[in-house]
This record gives sequence, C-alpha cells and structure tokens, in this order.
Amino acid sequence: MNILILGGGGREHALAWAIKQNPKCDRLIVAPGNAGIAQLAECAELNINDGGSVVTFAEENAISFVVIGPEAPLAAGVADRLDAAGIPCFGPSQAAAALEASKAFTKEICDACGAPTAAYARFTEAEPAKAYIREQGAPIVVKADGLAAGKGVIVAMDDETALAAIDDMFGGEFGEAGAEVVIEEFMEGEEASFFILCDGENVLPVGTAQDHKRVGEGDTGPNTGGMGAYSPAPVLTDAVAELAMEQIIRPTVAQMAKRGTPYKGVLYAGFMIKDGQPRLVEYNVRFGDPECQVLMMRLGAQALDLLLACAEGRLGEAQVNWADDHAMTVVMAANGYPGSYEKGSVIGGLDTLPEDSMNMVFHAGTKEIDGKVTANGGRVLNVTARGATLQEARDRAYAMVEAIDWPGGFYRRDIGWRAL
Ligand code: ATP
Repeated sequence: MNILILGGGGREHALAWAIKQNPKCDRLIVAPGNAGIAQLAECAELNINDGGSVVTFAEENAISFVVIGPEAPLAAGVADRLDAAGIPCFGPSQAAAALEASKAFTKEICDACGAPTAAYARFTEAEPAKAYIREQGAPIVVKADGLAAGKGVIVAMDDETALAAIDDMFGGEFGEAGAEVVIEEFMEGEEASFFILCDGENVLPVGTAQDHKRVGEGDTGPNTGGMGAYSPAPVLTDAVAELAMEQIIRPTVAQMAKRGTPYKGVLYAGFMIKDGQPRLVEYNVRFGDPECQVLMMRLGAQALDLLLACAEGRLGEAQVNWADDHAMTVVMAANGYPGSYEKGSVIGGLDTLPEDSMNMVFHAGTKEIDGKVTANGGRVLNVTARGATLQEARDRAYAMVEAIDWPGGFYRRDIGWRAL
C-alpha cells in the first residue's frame, strides 16, 4: 500500500522508520519530511494543515493510508476531510481533537465521566480569576485554554506569579488560546505518559514513557519541547496502568462515543502519580515528540499493523507483541535552544553510526545542503537506542551521541536519571 505521513520532525522520522519496515508498505511519502526522512522515504511539499490540499495530494498519489503526526492538522480538521473522501487515516476528528485543543473541554469530559484530575475553575475575565487565586492561594496552576505550543501553562509557586499570568493571558499574550483560562489545583507526584490506541470503542495500550522538559541537567533551566525520553516508565507499573485504564481512559473513550464524537487515534495521557494513584494532567491527541521515538523503537514494524487496526476499527482483536526491552532517546539541540539559535551548522559523524533495530538517529530538524547534513531547527537529532535494560539502552545511545561531531549543538548527559 501507498502511505502518506504528515509532519517533518523526529516523531515522523520514527513513524516512517517503523512503517517502512513492514512489508505492507510499498511507497512511503512524508510531507514535508526532513534530511533523515529523505533517506528512507520520498519527501513532498504540501500544506499539511489544509484538508483540501491533503485530500488532493492523497488522491493524486493513490495513497491508501494517511498517518497524521502533529496536532495542528488534527485541530484543523484534516482527518475529517480525509474521512469524507473515503481515505483511511490515523488521527482523531476535529471534534475529538478538542481533548488537546481545549483544556476546559478535557475538564468537562473528566467531570462527566468521573476521571480523577486536579480541581479547577474556568474564567473568561481577569477579576474573578484573580479573586479565585487569592482565595485558593499558591501553589496553583494557570492555563490558557487553547493550543499554545506548550507555553500556555504557568505552575505558580506564589500568588504574584499566578496573578501576573492572568494579566498576561487576558492581555492577549496567547491570542485566542488565552481568551479562556483554567485555574487548577497544584498536584504533587511523579509525571509519566501513557499511550493508548483507540478506535472509537476499543482501546489498546502501546507503551509508557517519561520525558525531560527542562533544558538543563538535574531538570533545571527553561522548558523545552523535550530533551530526551525513555520507555517504559517505571512509575507507571502494571497496577497503576490498570487503574488508569479503568478510572480514566475507558471512561473518557466511552464519554466521547456517547457524545457522538468517538475518539480514534492515539490518546497520549499525561498523569501525575502519587501513592500508586494516577490523576490526569492533560491529554494530547497525537504521539509525543520525543516519546514516539522510543515507542517506535520498541514496536518496530508491527506499528503499521496497529495503526491500521486503529483506523479500521479492528483494535478489539489486535495485540502488541512486546519484547521485554527498554529504549532511550537523547535529544541533541542547537546551541542557544530554547532561546534563539543559529541554523546551518554542519553535523558530522552520522555516517559512521549503526542503523538497525537497536540503534537509530532520528532527525528532528535537519536539512541537507551541498550533500552535508546541517542543523535546521532547535531540536535537531534524537539519538535513540534499545536494550535489555534501561542502562544498556542508555549506554548505546550516549556512545552514538559521543561519535557525532557537531560543535554547534548540545545535549543533556543525565537522561533517565530518575529511573536509573
Ligand atoms: P505540553 O504539551 O508541553 O505538555 P501543555 O501546554 O499541554 O504542555 P500541560 O501538560 O497541561 O500543558 O502542563 C504542562 C506541565 O505543567 C505538565 O507537564 C506539568 O509538569 C505541569 N502541570 C500542569 N498541570 C499541573 C497541575 N495541576 N499540578 C502540577 N503540575 C501541573
């Protein structure tokens, strides 16, 4: 079959890498792709947030399955357009994508199905929001309702910070995304992510992971899109996962179906876990980046069969063939990230590295210029490895990192510290 993947980051490189290994995949096109993806698939220019353009492209290229990587095309309704055109697609409808696009909507769903999450209140005006903060007191969490590229959440350890966040949000710092604000109870515990495929009715867990959001070692410095991840997450034990499925995931999926907006795609649930009890922090409606890289490393070629079963409503009979393994990815970023950074620095040493089922460098932001791989973004490479233990995966990943010759980039040396 001919398959189209939308996106061009490390997540999509990992999806392409896994899908390409499956004999069902004949032709693989990734739009827009990147220099790493170009080594295993065709890359195409396409406005991936425009449903009409995606449908036309898919028809012209006899595509029989579309995998949507990032949230923006989902929130823009690209899956709906593909569905209407009769082209099978992996990713939720626009209505179901509200689980990520609106934090207030997710809270409504939690209320309706009784899923454990932080207590909260919603506001569309500054004064009542401030009064609520003064009444509740810090620590407290202030969130812009809509998509704000991970920057719309302020975890305030004192009242002043929370009150200032209200001024920023209603002052238009996040545009439309900040027109409504959700104020939440601060939850303590350890965070972990759980990935569950849903076909509207059936659910199938496909792995757990933990990431590292802060730029600096020891989890210090400003937030980033993620500096590394590993799977599985030790804190998300089988017992915690079972509780999460019963109390949070199945009720959410049932509630979405009941509303006439069944959830189809991967549900990426962020949990806060304390004393063996998971509470929902957030939902995302796509794979995490860089979590997808460790999940795909562990799933390999079967990922395509699982994504197809998900899109075709056959998850009830699907199962994951798990190896008892671990995977880790270390993000290499351009110097200066997450602040301003330069593009165009040359990355050497990549062709000396192994590329097999245990070792893979996924490209997140690269571009080939004059035959050389150059940096073309903030997060640039995801150096990923698998092992019988997390330590083994870690040793393999860092051995590759050290063989990469890129003075223009940096990485954290402590990925996985919590689990090791
Ligand atoms: P991202 O997509 O980058 O994860 P987001 O904008 O979707 O971020 P959330 O995941 O809701 O926002 O929040 C970002 C981070 O803030 C969480 O990963 C968590 O560390 C912290 N956080 C959010 N809500 C709470 C809460 N109620 N209590 C404690 N910490 C919280």
